Amino acid sequence: MGEKIDFKKLGLKVGLELHQQLNTKHKLFCKCPTKLVEEKGEFNFIRRLRPTRSELGEVDIAALFEWKRGRYYLYESYDNYTCLVEGDEEPPHELNREALEIALTVALLLNSKPVDEVHVMRKIVIDGSNTTGFQRTAVVALGGYLEDEEDVIRIQTICLEEDAARKIAEKGAEVTYRLDRLGIPLIEIATGPDIHTPEQAERVAYKIGQLLRITGKVKRGLGTIRQDLNISIEGGEKIEVKGVQKLELISRVVAYEALRQYRLLKIRDGLKKRGLREEDIAFKPIDVTKIFEKTKSKVLRRALKERKKILAQVLPYFKGILGIELQPKRRFGTELAEYAKFWGGVSGIIHTDELPRYGITDSEIRMLYEYCKADPEKDAIVIVADREDNAREALKAIVERAKYALKGVPKETRAANPDGTTRYMRPQPGAARMYPETDVPPIEVTEEWLEKIREKLPEKPEQKYEKFVREYGLSKDLARLMIKSYWLDLFEKLVEKFKGKVSPVLIATTFENTLKALKGEGIPIENIRDEVFEEILEKYSEKTMAKEAIPKILAWIARNPGKTVEEAIKVLKIERLTLRDVEAIVEEIIKDKRELIKARRERAFGAIMGLAMSKLRGKVDGKTVAEIVKKKINEYLRNIG
Ligand SMILES: [Zn+2]
Repeated sequence: MGEKIDFKKLGLKVGLELHQQLNTKHKLFCKCPTKLVEEKGEFNFIRRLRPTRSELGEVDIAALFEWKRGRYYLYESYDNYTCLVEGDEEPPHELNREALEIALTVALLLNSKPVDEVHVMRKIVIDGSNTTGFQRTAVVALGGYLEDEEDVIRIQTICLEEDAARKIAEKGAEVTYRLDRLGIPLIEIATGPDIHTPEQAERVAYKIGQLLRITGKVKRGLGTIRQDLNISIEGGEKIEVKGVQKLELISRVVAYEALRQYRLLKIRDGLKKRGLREEDIAFKPIDVTKIFEKTKSKVLRRALKERKKILAQVLPYFKGILGIELQPKRRFGTELAEYAKFWGGVSGIIHTDELPRYGITDSEIRMLYEYCKADPEKDAIVIVADREDNAREALKAIVERAKYALKGVPKETRAANPDGTTRYMRPQPGAARMYPETDVPPIEVTEEWLEKIREKLPEKPEQKYEKFVREYGLSKDLARLMIKSYWLDLFEKLVEKFKGKVSPVLIATTFENTLKALKGEGIPIENIRDEVFEEILEKYSEKTMAKEAIPKILAWIARNPGKTVEEAIKVLKIERLTLRDVEAIVEEIIKDKRELIKARRERAFGAIMGLAMSKLRGKVDGKTVAEIVKKKINEYLRNIG
């Protein structure tokens, strides 16, 4: 982006809202398992959601808008994975105490103060991701803090929530959701706006994630942890960025969003300097279809063929502004286009800052300016080709957004793109969106219960480190890596499970060396489910495979997600050979290379070993091969005298 930005000078403030799925036996309000299903739904039903009035009598604009679009929702459900609660055919059961206990554990680890009584509330959701039209959520603890290198980060709230249904498809007005995820317990941790740099945001998210994993009670893998970020700079606006799933993306999202706000403020100052006032920007759509009747532009010709209209809107003093880049490959014009798409349902806009382009000629542009009585030196014109009502709505939204350019950064909810930039998602919902869930009785958090939880709080990282070195025999370096590892909880679980059968060092190096190496080769290790590691260690402890085969199996499964270790072993032709088989292979090689051995005697070891390993790699461990090679060379040398 050229310029180096001092985020602290910009007055960057970031608060995190981290959502983590809990690995409980049951869902939050029913007895269904907390498992995702890969098969299509066994029976499906359709619902439409209607915007309701909150208790304060206020209708959510965003909800109303969604409803006006005429959307309907198809829900996929199952016999064994979902029940009537997810379908909103039966009231929720009591709040899951296992989930609450995990949330309380996390609260104590974060120095947060648990509430005396946990009350479940309803929070309106408008996108159909919940069959009820609201999400159930409960505050579990307030306050607290987390120590970071630079600042103490305040914790504001810790909540327990039900996860939403999974969006599977979107086709026209039909949106398909799978109900398997709906109701999986989520812990939501919200920090204060105490983070001041992009790197710090990532580090704090990582620390909270680590603390959650230390409990050993959270789900792992892509999609099980999601971050929302509240980002603002001095003079900007608190922007909510939703749904960052990858930790590595956080610092980039923060940096790009700060940059966007910074550039929007620059645009504001620039427009003011040009003398623009809000009242200069009036919604005045002009039908310019005529100008383009004989156009060579494919996009416009297609629209005209479909009997669509081409409407134009002048943005006075905006010339050059729409082409300003706010984030990599995203210009001010992109922001206008997103408003047009969202509010007008149009597929896009064309503006004069990007012309001539799309086959639109200079003379057409000249005619456009003339017809609209706009100044080609000062003004920008936006055109939209669509059904007239859609085009009007789109231009109206563009005018509103353009007016906001004089204020700076509009308040909105944005979503993170895979490259770390952000896009408009919807307006920020109003505050009055919570009301009590009367179907679920409150749960008292007694001092006795808290005392019990305090007694069995998970070990602190330092204690774990000691244990890893002393009991598990990890080197200090490896123990240090393991403490910080994403795989920490799984590592501990597997060490316990394979006690006396598999060395903890092998398990640790599989995570910290093997997996990292595979990732470095570009292998999608995020596809490897936890059970795969368990299966591999099972096979290894049964001696059906050598440890040398582990990387191969992991790589294959990462590329063939959903397959089992058994299948990997078969496809990769990995079999454990008997010692006798190995000896026979080595003897064969020695017979072939007897001249070499005669000439070089014991020094032939390296060459023979290399040949043996090329045949045996992955099937038997190197140490055993080396022993046999050495033994067989010596035997041969003794025989020839
Ligand atoms: Zn259920």
